Amino acid sequence: MDLDRHDFQLDELVERIKSNDNRLVALQVPEGLKMQALEMMDSIEDGSSAKVILAADPCYGACDLVHDKMRSMGVELVAHMGHSQMNIDSGMPTHFIPVTYDGDPELAPAVPFLERHRAIAQSRLDSSDGEELDEDAAKQRFLDAVGRVAPLTGTKLGLVGSIQHLHLLPDFKERLEKAGFEVEIPVGGDRLTFPGQVLGCNYSGDTPSIGHYLFLGSGDFHPIGLVLHTGKPLTMLDPYTGDSTEMSLERVERILRQRFGLIMAVGDAKTFGILIGEKPGQMRRNLAIRMKRLLEEHGRKGYLLALDHIGPELIDFYPVDAFVNTACPRIAIDDSVKYAKPLITPYELEVALGEKEWQSGYQFDEIP
Ligand code: SF4
Repeated sequence: MDLDRHDFQLDELVERIKSNDNRLVALQVPEGLKMQALEMMDSIEDGSSAKVILAADPCYGACDLVHDKMRSMGVELVAHMGHSQMNIDSGMPTHFIPVTYDGDPELAPAVPFLERHRAIAQSRLDSSDGEELDEDAAKQRFLDAVGRVAPLTGTKLGLVGSIQHLHLLPDFKERLEKAGFEVEIPVGGDRLTFPGQVLGCNYSGDTPSIGHYLFLGSGDFHPIGLVLHTGKPLTMLDPYTGDSTEMSLERVERILRQRFGLIMAVGDAKTFGILIGEKPGQMRRNLAIRMKRLLEEHGRKGYLLALDHIGPELIDFYPVDAFVNTACPRIAIDDSVKYAKPLITPYELEVALGEKEWQSGYQFDEIP
């Protein structure tokens, strides 16, 4: 990562610490910035009279705010870097520190992908007929990322990005419009702070008028989630390298085949561990209890297991047939091969028990 080109914006934090006269502050930084954390702690301590504790456990999102343990250590303020505020209350005063990257890639490498994707969206729109599917056809649609699409009324280009590149979106919208695209910067629900923002667990800005996407960011974590969620084609433009590519629908279909296999595999399972995430923004207790009831209604048994971190070494040994994950949805989607037993989402359990139909295509496990 080119750190000189990132703006870590610590000044506002130092001002807040000084005006509050805070004495003990916790700093939480994403995994990719942990190497620079000690330098940041120096800057904060040099600029104020506070002492800084690094919350050194892994942190992958604003869902994972440090809370009561830090309070019991006497921490007065949590400084959380690199993610934006969510619709959760950790119970601790928290200062969110934005990180922006100044890279401004050329649009040109993305245009051929965008033109092709717009044509796909148009042909889908022309051929959408709302037909009823039989069970086999519905299963086929479930497996087919190209065939399954959230309801479509238009072919607009949805412009989204990861948080450190969101400042580019207004300018990119203009550039894309000049290039002949009709552009929408989607505005999502309460879990998202900014227009065009996406999270690994929330793509709520998607609308039927959007037919395809451009994602400004690096890596395929968000693109995989967005295509799983919508079935819509997606172009990626990486502000770090200037390279453009597309999210391969074959790749998403492979994931869907894997999900299909796991749903079939739990059909005969009798006992389930139901995972509840303890992190403030991942805790879906009511959903977990609903899954337990559902299992009971179908003559199966569910055990509620609460964890802060979730990993194979922490759950594989329980004598159950399968696990249902209500914590971060991406644990089941991205990591299931690491687990010895099937690890499925609540929606997938409902399909396995016959409560949901294949008909509507795959439903991504979104945290609203
Ligand atoms: S994808 Fe997972 S880690 Fe990321 S914000 Fe959502 S719940 Fe948190």
